Amino acid sequence: MEKKLKLKIFQEIAAVADRLQMETYVIGGYVRDLHLKRPSKDIDVVTIGSGIDLATEVAKNLTPRPRVNIFKNFGTAMLKYKDLEVEFVGARKESYQRSSRKPIVEDGTLEDDQNRRDFTINALALSLNKNNFGTLVDPFGGIEDLSNRIIKTPLDPDITFSDDPLRIMRAIRFATQLDFEIDNETLKAIKRNKDRIKIISDERIIDEINKIMMAPKPSKGFKLLEETGLLAIIFPELQNMKGVQRVNGIGHKDNFYHTLEVLDRIVPNTDNLWLRWSALLHDIAKPATKKYIEGQGWTFHAHNFVGVKMIPKIFRRMKLPLNEKMKYVQKMVQLHMRPIVLSEEIVTDSAVRRLLFEAGDDIDDLMTLCEADITSKNASKVKRYMKNFKVVRQKLKEIEEKDAVRNFQPPVDGELIMKTFNLTPCREVGLIKDAIKEAILDGEIHNDYEEAFAFMMKKAKELGLKN
Ligand code: ATP
Repeated sequence: MEKKLKLKIFQEIAAVADRLQMETYVIGGYVRDLHLKRPSKDIDVVTIGSGIDLATEVAKNLTPRPRVNIFKNFGTAMLKYKDLEVEFVGARKESYQRSSRKPIVEDGTLEDDQNRRDFTINALALSLNKNNFGTLVDPFGGIEDLSNRIIKTPLDPDITFSDDPLRIMRAIRFATQLDFEIDNETLKAIKRNKDRIKIISDERIIDEINKIMMAPKPSKGFKLLEETGLLAIIFPELQNMKGVQRVNGIGHKDNFYHTLEVLDRIVPNTDNLWLRWSALLHDIAKPATKKYIEGQGWTFHAHNFVGVKMIPKIFRRMKLPLNEKMKYVQKMVQLHMRPIVLSEEIVTDSAVRRLLFEAGDDIDDLMTLCEADITSKNASKVKRYMKNFKVVRQKLKEIEEKDAVRNFQPPVDGELIMKTFNLTPCREVGLIKDAIKEAILDGEIHNDYEEAFAFMMKKAKELGLKN
């Protein structure tokens, strides 16, 4: 490990630590990621003594001298150096009460500090003092667990999880991000302690869920949440999607696993968290709209519209943003069946124009979602859909070049209608405006001022208006 602590900052910290005679280590995520060869910019330094004093002294020796942000309440200090964020903290011992995840904190030894860490792989420390610079302190076999790709608590998992149930979410999140397995005893303890999650704030839970969403294979995390019984507590709508109902021997597909497949399939094509959320929620109303109809089989009528209505409640409860990001997810969910319907019919210009008008700039994201939604095992069916989507994409391009309805601005607006016919805002203005929009979307007239003006005159005449 010694040769890996090459960054200049470690030499600087070591020199100061020796001068002040403070036992000092780099600890936690940075050491773990060093071993996994994952690039990391966050360095946690623990010292036996005051982290604030150490940080202040280190900063004085750096050029340019960085500002030290001190958090007195937590006894921590943070400084930024080049592209690194270094946090300094005094080693501590923690003890917990049942009602809260906030521990009672006392000064402690390195061992105490390692004991309070969540997982063996997060409890590794490398010495920063001259006499043993780079020496690894690994009391719980963290290096072995890293090699075997195991998430395991350092102490009794029931105590670790009950003390701070956020660690339950962190275990599942790390397993997903790193593609590690959760040790059997640790997993059993998660199941036993799952109800403790209720003392964790929604904000912290969603933070972990979003990290799972951004992992290379988010399905792994959601399957773990489901298997451990957590999903039913924190995301009942998603839990409800699991299972297959049968009538007369006919079953529908399991919408939970289908959804996870769509989510995994969209990952390589987008880093946009909200498009990933759209994938997770696109069929969320299938359980609520499910109906078996004799002769037709299973139907999920209007599940997209019902899904749109469910989203604000889910977002509010989970403390997700209620702004344009939610609106974007709603739009994706509402429109998610349109391209496929389009591709199954003869693709008419007017249908494509309408889709472009409704999706606007999000049309490419919508197509990405729809392509991910094709999870059929039938290869020839998949091939046909993909071919049809190609046609739809081509058609979208042609129509946009011709008619520019992607960010539709009416060529004749309400102001002009009112001025021409000497009107104040009234029903007729709306009717004419709408008629012009419809005529453009239907391809009756072009998206063009002259044609729209002539159309307005004609429509006004029908309504008995005079200019
Ligand atoms: P990432 O940056 O990917 O979240 P990380 O391990 O650096 O990974 P942090 O949340 O920054 O995560 O935590 C830093 C270290 O603090 C962890 O490696 C772990 O040792 C410890 N830690 C963080 N949260 C907890 C917790 N809830 N319980 C116990 N130890 C924790």
